Amino acid sequence: MLLRRVSVAGAIVIVGAVAVTLLVEGGGRASLAVTVAGRSAHVVEGTTLAGAAARFGLHPRAGDVVDVNGQALRAGAVAGSFLVDGRPASAETRLRSGDRITVVDGHDRREPLVRRVVRVTGGMANNPQFTVSHTPGEQVIVKGALSHQLVSVQFRPSGPARVERAVALTFDDGPSPQYTPRILAALTKLRVRATFFVIGYLAEANPDLVRQELRLGMTVGNHSYNHPEVPPFAQLPPQLLTDEIALGEQVLSRLGAQPRLFRPPGGSSSPRLVGAAAALGQRVVLWSVDPADWRRGNTAKEIVKHVLAAVRPGSIVILHDGGGDRSATLAALPAIVRGIRRRGLQLVALNANPPAAQGPTGNP
Ligand SMILES: [Zn+2]
Repeated sequence: MLLRRVSVAGAIVIVGAVAVTLLVEGGGRASLAVTVAGRSAHVVEGTTLAGAAARFGLHPRAGDVVDVNGQALRAGAVAGSFLVDGRPASAETRLRSGDRITVVDGHDRREPLVRRVVRVTGGMANNPQFTVSHTPGEQVIVKGALSHQLVSVQFRPSGPARVERAVALTFDDGPSPQYTPRILAALTKLRVRATFFVIGYLAEANPDLVRQELRLGMTVGNHSYNHPEVPPFAQLPPQLLTDEIALGEQVLSRLGAQPRLFRPPGGSSSPRLVGAAAALGQRVVLWSVDPADWRRGNTAKEIVKHVLAAVRPGSIVILHDGGGDRSATLAALPAIVRGIRRRGLQLVALNANPPAAQGPTGNP
């Protein structure tokens, strides 16, 4: 009986009993006792590691090079190996009595990542966005070096937000066959470009109205598919919330819009909602001026008064072209537009640049 000292990660362990048997085989060569993948075995003196592997049928499994989502890119590209007494050894290594051969499978290896920093010319809008403003800075984009799949995009501001001398009029809850054409006609006459946050199922029912909005240079944004209000949108179960955003987006994409902007029903927002929208490539847009044009009995005069009292450079104004009687909103438009222009502010449609911050996502 022989006691061997084996050093394992700095600790001295006494491994009992690998008996060294020296048998004489037919060829006259001695037989060595070794341990192969945990089992005792005998090999002829002079046997190499490769010879033993062949004789005992040892095949370390090869690992794959996988992409950032864990999908195999290069199957079997990471070879396995053998260790002799815990150390890497070449195939030609001659085995000695008492050697332990260990089979090591190749581990899957993730593709390397590449990181790119891109200056954002003109700056980025905040997310969620309340005003027409842009923050200068750069985007840090991380992608898989082989698959080019997106891992993350992060915005690094380099200075304070620049508020534009502009105001954005936004119209929610359409398209409405009754009011949207009249609101579009009024805006065209006033030479105003605005933003329409449309509801998916209404856009599906009135595709020509969405096409008309696009033709007239309006920005068309996503206002969910069904416009659920109870519970508040941001409190919907995660899957339902994502489906509402994604379905609304699909309808608009089919109609030729690039719905990069999402306005949650009721303005109900949360970091989780902003993240869910960002994962679908959409930025959340809220508002800073709300004349409550949807409230019954609110007159055009009251709507104009509220907007002109509250509006300032960068304001985003929420109005509605659907969801009820919009005649007061329609009647208020000329005075709103004139009043805003009188202050030297431009009227602009919101810019649909991509979301400023996007967390890690499995779905680039
Ligand atoms: Zn709404």
